[in-house]
Amino acid sequence: MKKLLSILSFLILISQVQAQQLPRVIILATGGTIAGAGASADRAGYTAGKIPIDDLIGTIPSVKKIASISGEQVASVGSQDMTIDIWKKLAIRINEIFKNNEADGIVITHGTDTQEETAYFLDLVITSDKPVVLTGSMRPATAISADGPKNLYDAITIAINPKSKGRGVLVSFNEGIYDAREVMKLSTTKTNAFGSPNTGPVGQAYDGRVEYYSSSDREVNPKKPIVLTPDTKLPRVDIVYMYADAPADQIDMLISKKVAGIVIAGVGNGNFNKAYMDAVKRAVAAGVIVCRASRTPSGRVVLHDEINDEELGTIVSDDLTPQKARVLLMLALTRTKDKKQLQEIFFTY
Ligand code: GLU
Repeated sequence: MKKLLSILSFLILISQVQAQQLPRVIILATGGTIAGAGASADRAGYTAGKIPIDDLIGTIPSVKKIASISGEQVASVGSQDMTIDIWKKLAIRINEIFKNNEADGIVITHGTDTQEETAYFLDLVITSDKPVVLTGSMRPATAISADGPKNLYDAITIAINPKSKGRGVLVSFNEGIYDAREVMKLSTTKTNAFGSPNTGPVGQAYDGRVEYYSSSDREVNPKKPIVLTPDTKLPRVDIVYMYADAPADQIDMLISKKVAGIVIAGVGNGNFNKAYMDAVKRAVAAGVIVCRASRTPSGRVVLHDEINDEELGTIVSDDLTPQKARVLLMLALTRTKDKKQLQEIFFTY
């Protein structure tokens, strides 16, 4: 009996030593379909964000062989309900985890609807170069061929891979690895929902392996993170969509609300009609920063092209989508209100 006990404690000791040697990953869970549960095996009528993080980790038991995992539930929302407060909470916790050396990599589980916005927000404010990887799923955990466990496993393999360091925040989906700045949800229901229309993926995760085949210039020359503290107040920036014969009432409404910035999801090269043009002039005169972006999913909005930005007093989003231009403008406005400097930030970040 004594002998058996000492063998047992020896085995426990060995497994503890092994666990200590494994790379440490903290999973920060925010909800989304990956934690979604429904009454039946089809997609219909499920609720996002129902399943707690420990149960999600339980869907991939073999991950224990490659990483020492712990989970924290930061929020439990469908990502259509993502808020700036949750973004701040996530960012501050991530910076703290790395500062205290609590983990070698972080995975964030997140709904897919606004995943690209959260990824870019974090990309702009995280101070460490250790890997941070977002993932989610298109099918709830209770669906046939749920894609969550595989996406989560891949995200962990990316987070523990030394090659993932210094690449900024990444999104892992359906084996693709995407740069936070470039990635976009491109399908409402398909499991290969994500893509980067301007650049393509930066790599692939498969069979527990991670391969990178490109890197973003803007990550190679790392930008200075924008300082975020619990007291940082982000100014209000809204997005107005342009379409044929659009009236400009929304722009005037936003001027009356005294918003700090407006991003126009313009047509083509960030264009808008005469009604918008006049309203944009009123916005600029009222001190609102107006940024021209495009509803077209790829390409860049060019400064001084069809629209003379210098004359109009506008800035351009470069190749950021309107939803990401809004994120950058909110954060950039905590640094400066100078249009030249803001434009420079859009060309560098
Ligand atoms: N609308 C939900 C969300 O974004 C479900 C979509 C998903 O996660 O795929 O969280």
